[in-house]
Amino acid sequence: MSFELAPEEQLMVQAVRELAASPAGRAHWRERALANEFPERLWDALAAAGFLGILVPQEYGGAGLGLREMALLMETLGAEGMALLLMIVSTTMSTIALARHGSPEQKRRYLPGLAQGTTRFCFAITEPNAGSNSFRLETLATRDGDGYRIRGQKYFISGVEQAQHCLLVTRTTPARDVTDKRAGLSLFIVDTDAPGFTKQVQDTALNETERQWTLFFDDVRVPRASLIGDEGAGHRYLFDLLNPERVVSAAIATGLGRYVLGRAVAYTRDRKVFSVPIGAHQGLAHPMALAAAHLELAALMTRKAAWLFDNGKPGGAEANVAKMAAADAGLEACDVAIQAHGGNGFTREYEVVTYWPLLRLIKTAPVSREMILNYIGEHVLGLPRSY
Ligand SMILES: Cc1cc2nc3c(=O)[nH]c(=O)nc-3n(C[C@H](O)[C@H](O)[C@H](O)COP(=O)(O)OP(=O)(O)OC[C@H]3O[C@@H](n4cnc5c(N)ncnc54)[C@H](O)[C@@H]3O)c2cc1C
Repeated sequence: MSFELAPEEQLMVQAVRELAASPAGRAHWRERALANEFPERLWDALAAAGFLGILVPQEYGGAGLGLREMALLMETLGAEGMALLLMIVSTTMSTIALARHGSPEQKRRYLPGLAQGTTRFCFAITEPNAGSNSFRLETLATRDGDGYRIRGQKYFISGVEQAQHCLLVTRTTPARDVTDKRAGLSLFIVDTDAPGFTKQVQDTALNETERQWTLFFDDVRVPRASLIGDEGAGHRYLFDLLNPERVVSAAIATGLGRYVLGRAVAYTRDRKVFSVPIGAHQGLAHPMALAAAHLELAALMTRKAAWLFDNGKPGGAEANVAKMAAADAGLEACDVAIQAHGGNGFTREYEVVTYWPLLRLIKTAPVSREMILNYIGEHVLGLPRSY
């Protein structure tokens, strides 16, 4: 694994910086994020640059690259002050699900549009009675003629308003009927305009460009062709999605952390309240330096986790550690940035406080800090579990 950016990665970073400065870039993202609306122009520009097809195989119109490049893209967008949850659930997770486990027909049908940005997916696993414990989920797909009938409910599902399709995790065998709790999960593609599919917006306060929804599946009929892979084998495919989800979430947190810290550095180099710029006071300089160091460490772990995934090696622990470290470092950077701005830290004009909810989210989702520590305790240290 090389720590240097390849020439094409350097070009990508440069292109993202130029995009951020363009009319479709950061100003557009920010205006939309504060209004909780989708930045269509940014999305189109990302598609036109080929960035939405990073993980799409070349034969389906993508770049055929890996999670390393995807994470670099997300980190760079973050470092320019922009983040899109749809790029986690659609451009990363759903694309990987289809590219790795989709049927030839599913690949032909969805991958070219995913690369072009015209096809968008949301991802739905969380349920009111099964948040941190996904194996307990109750949404059930039962065989019905030549297809399935789906009943159940999901909540906190991001970006449904933008998505034509939902990558849905269901049970095909109820939890009570399996001895191994991982058995009986299945992945489906469900159209968001299917009869019986309804949604209700949730009142989240994130300063983000996607909304969160409660979804109701009331006897939604899907053809057998909408099942991804084998019935009941969903847990095997899920880990190919959930680790990348952690990696790109880590990349977003690291990037946004760099952005807010950069603003704090610029502000404190300039502002004087005594004889020297406030950034000269170690009371501010050291916390900023510490945050910079923690962001760098998180970025390194994120790259390692992406490398493991791209090379087909087990990387659950690394993806979890990267997500936890990046969420902590991003939040630390945001807190320091707010502090360094004094009262201005609380104004929209100086921006830094507006990133707090999004960075704080990454401590809770897609997997909470506590569940990561549980994972490390059990799978890395070999400790017994409490639940
Ligand atoms: C803005 C936002 C966007 C989201 N987008 C999506 C999406 O697109 N798709 C999707 O499927 N989901 C999405 N989620 C859901 C998210 O992944 C869950 O909220 C998260 O996994 C936590 O689940 P929960 O809310 O049910 O919390 P709970 O599982 O109820 O947990 C509550 C608290 O208890 C702690 N806890 C629970 N069990 C243990 C334990 N054994 N040990 C220690 N602590 C424990 C948790 O760590 C947490 O702090 C989103 C959530 C938010 C807020």
